[in-house]
Amino acid sequence: MSRTGRRDTAPELALRRELHRRGLRYLVDTTPPGTNRRRRADVVFRGARVAVFVDGCFWHACPEHFHPPKANAEWWRVKFASIAARDRDTDASLAALGWYPLRVWEHVPAVAAADRVAGMLHARTPASRRGGPVTRGARPACPALS
Ligand SMILES: [Zn+2]
Repeated sequence: MSRTGRRDTAPELALRRELHRRGLRYLVDTTPPGTNRRRRADVVFRGARVAVFVDGCFWHACPEHFHPPKANAEWWRVKFASIAARDRDTDASLAALGWYPLRVWEHVPAVAAADRVAGMLHARTPASRRGGPVTRGARPACPALS
């Protein structure tokens, strides 16, 4: 299993719809260029180098909803520990290559999740490429825009 859970879960689809509605364009269920090909991100923004993971509350042990299975407790403990370690390793290798790994819990409403993604994209995109105000020589930037 190269990826925990399956792709196109309802929370992933809801987030993608919301991002698309905002005019954002992205790659789906793919590997950020230059990183481990077996670690696929759910939504990838190549320009801003942001890789979004919609983490399932069960597999990724969300603090609000996770209840470890009672049967085969030791097997599950090892399983969850290995998933957590793999997530940390994925995040570290992305960061080392200049990517920002952004993880959202599947229980986060799509609009709130999209707000986080959009905020990160904004922060990682230079104003000149956003079409925003670019300060030039003699003309001061409008304070209302800064
Ligand atoms: Zn949760």
